[in-house]
Amino acid sequence: MHSKMKEVYDSVIERDPDQPEFHQAVEEVLDSLGPVIDAHPDYLQVVKSIVEPERIIQFRVPWYDDEGNLQVNRGFRIQMNGAIGPYKGGLRFHPSVNQSILKFLAFEQVFKNSLTGLPMGGGKGGSDFNPKGRSDNEVRRFCQSFMMELWRHIGANLDVPAGDIGVGGREIGFLFGMYRKLANEFTGVLTGKGLSYGGSLIRPEATGYGTVYFAREMLATRDMSFEGAKVAISGSGNVAQFAAEKVLDLGGKPVTLSDSSGFIHDSNGIDREKLAWVMDLKNVRRGRIVEYAEHFGCDYTESKPEPNLNGLWGADADIALPCATQNEINGEEAKMLVDNGCIAVAEGANMPCTPEAVECFHENGLLFAPGKASNAGGVATSGLEMSQNSLRLNWSREEVDRRLEEIMVNIHRNAADTAAKYGMEGNYVAGANIAGFLKVAEAMEAQGHI
Ligand code: NDP
Repeated sequence: MHSKMKEVYDSVIERDPDQPEFHQAVEEVLDSLGPVIDAHPDYLQVVKSIVEPERIIQFRVPWYDDEGNLQVNRGFRIQMNGAIGPYKGGLRFHPSVNQSILKFLAFEQVFKNSLTGLPMGGGKGGSDFNPKGRSDNEVRRFCQSFMMELWRHIGANLDVPAGDIGVGGREIGFLFGMYRKLANEFTGVLTGKGLSYGGSLIRPEATGYGTVYFAREMLATRDMSFEGAKVAISGSGNVAQFAAEKVLDLGGKPVTLSDSSGFIHDSNGIDREKLAWVMDLKNVRRGRIVEYAEHFGCDYTESKPEPNLNGLWGADADIALPCATQNEINGEEAKMLVDNGCIAVAEGANMPCTPEAVECFHENGLLFAPGKASNAGGVATSGLEMSQNSLRLNWSREEVDRRLEEIMVNIHRNAADTAAKYGMEGNYVAGANIAGFLKVAEAMEAQGHI
């Protein structure tokens, strides 16, 4: 790492020594910025500032469970950087949520949002609430209590949250309803809304579709495609489901899916009919992926405690799309993919590959797409939802998908061209970090480092 960047990195660790996920995300970006600082020494001021959130809001979320017991969770919103537009980024409800995880996600979001070309700053929020096993009534009471505090900190021109792990259409609906009641206005304050109250077509599909569009562009640089490719996918939530759908559209064969309990390996391929069954299992019946193996008769492996997807990446696959959670492919698992002849990895999740895994992919000449570039389709389409809300118009499915695809092609080109310009051809990590940084840096400098 460049010596000036190392000084900033050390200060981040010294300030918050107990935030390993945040350190990891910062290290990856600062590692790429050396050549930028050599070319623009004044941007060192920006770097010092960009690693510190503009604002962190933390609050108590009390709610009653179905037995009438009081439960108390912790809520957060990290408003990381608003230099190029209103803060924008998802809400995560998962027991692991803490400041380190949300700061890493909010930091990544700043660069990702900048890469989309849309005017959106970066933010992230959530709670250590676990929706799994909770009734609809419990989830509703929790969401309403969460919004009782959050509503005063967000707004259509200030901060526009969306979904993430544990926050899907049901939760966004409850959150939006409560915001509307408290603020006494109907605005596009959340994205991922239902179609009947201001949502956009293709928003649910966008992150998974976008990841596959990005991977398609990467593969094309080597005259390769998804046609006939075996594709290992992790997760079975929003991103994984629609990544699998787009892989099928492009002639590929998804062979794995997972949840936090284990993974299935279906060497016959997860076809459209099986995928529809998974969508019903996960989105309607809220069941476990083991039921797929029981229903369709394929291999199922229970997860080991750490890393919890251990084994999935040993599947024979040409392309890997990690779409579950952070740090789900470590160095050893990356080596298994390489040994099995995998040619490309595109992150659907945020930071699913550890630094050792990324190094292994680069050393072995794999195509590797970092999440801040490849999964930016979700937030980009949220941006399109905001535009439609402002215009009070709804675009067709084809129109939104066309714009999404165009944005992903542009992000790919921008990351590739920027990497080449700074002497790191084919390194999408460096290209995405530098391209995302430059736009925000210019805006921060112009605004006087406030
Ligand atoms: P969902 O909650 O819909 O699905 C998450 C999936 O990952 C589930 O299958 C879940 O299993 C699994 N999972 C979650 N945590 C773990 C864990 N600790 N270990 C093993 N498996 C786990 O979330 P999304 O699909 O929306 O998000 C997935 C990833 O994509 C996240 O990293 C998110 O930040 C990122 N992302 C999402 C975007 C979006 O638009 N939704 C946009 C950009 C990035 P289980 O149900 O058992 O917990």
